[in-house]
Amino acid sequence: MSKVLDLDSNEVIDICADPDCNAEIFFGQSVWKKGHDLICSTDCLLRVLGAKAVIAGREPVEPEPYGTFETFNAARSEYSNF
Ligand SMILES: [Zn+2]
Repeated sequence: MSKVLDLDSNEVIDICADPDCNAEIFFGQSVWKKGHDLICSTDCLLRVLGAKAVIAGREPVEPEPYGTFETFNAARSEYSNF
């Protein structure tokens, strides 16, 4: 038990592709890969993808200032009742 760390495995080969993280990625580390980018963790991957974890049906509805196709269809179906 004299040698704990292999110095070769401590070589930094990249930086996490998440700009909010920028963590060093070491040779031999388990990472995500998206295109040519390496991403250090699942949280970083979700940020890079623009995805987030929510509770289905409990996500607060964000206001849509210009409306959406769905709200347009809802408004149109109300008119069709007359
Ligand atoms: Zn990261």
